[in-house]
Amino acid sequence: MKVAETLAAIEALDLRQQALLSEQEQAAQRAKTDPTVRQLRQRRAALEAQVKRQASGLKQLELEVAELAGRAQNHEKAIYDGSVRHPADLQRRQHELETLRVKIQGLEETELSQMEAQEQTSAELDLVGEQLTEREHEVDQLRAADRGRAADLAEELTTAVEERRQLGESVTPSQLRSYERTAARRRPAVAKVVGGTCSGCRLPLPSRLLQEARGEQLVTCENCERILLL
Ligand SMILES: [Zn+2]
Repeated sequence: MKVAETLAAIEALDLRQQALLSEQEQAAQRAKTDPTVRQLRQRRAALEAQVKRQASGLKQLELEVAELAGRAQNHEKAIYDGSVRHPADLQRRQHELETLRVKIQGLEETELSQMEAQEQTSAELDLVGEQLTEREHEVDQLRAADRGRAADLAEELTTAVEERRQLGESVTPSQLRSYERTAARRRPAVAKVVGGTCSGCRLPLPSRLLQEARGEQLVTCENCERILLL
């Protein structure tokens, strides 16, 4: 195998190793609390608190209405059972009764709109609950798949590292350094020559360079410094 071919194989293994490591990293991230699950749980807690607040507000309104209705009933009773004789007293009671009825009506309207608001919050809470269950299920499945893949992933990594080590020994240290220097700056570090041009930067290569690349020598593109593979 020509040196450039060996270096290209080394590069393929390096990229494979990178991909496997990133796969491991992603699995490690998924093992932690899922951001969507966390967000949905926070939303659910906030909605639950809101429903509670709305319920206690409604309860308060109901008590107020009941209290005013009781007072209105007393006035009605007094007015109609003939127990109030004095015209001024009767007038005062009638006026108060009217005021109470207006207040009660206002409170009942508020009650109605608050009930609607509570229904909306409850519906949203249901929806968030469904979304949470769905996402938790998804996350469980992903984690189960990650656990199933973990052993294979570790084995593939070990193999890639070992193959890479062996290939690295089949070239000289300076050739390996040359590849590593280029790889640190650009990928791929080894570029195929296609139709007389460097596939890394797509510029045509001088015939002198093409001639050299046919030999055993390591030749780099004068433009992008990639190692050329003929
Ligand atoms: Zn180039």
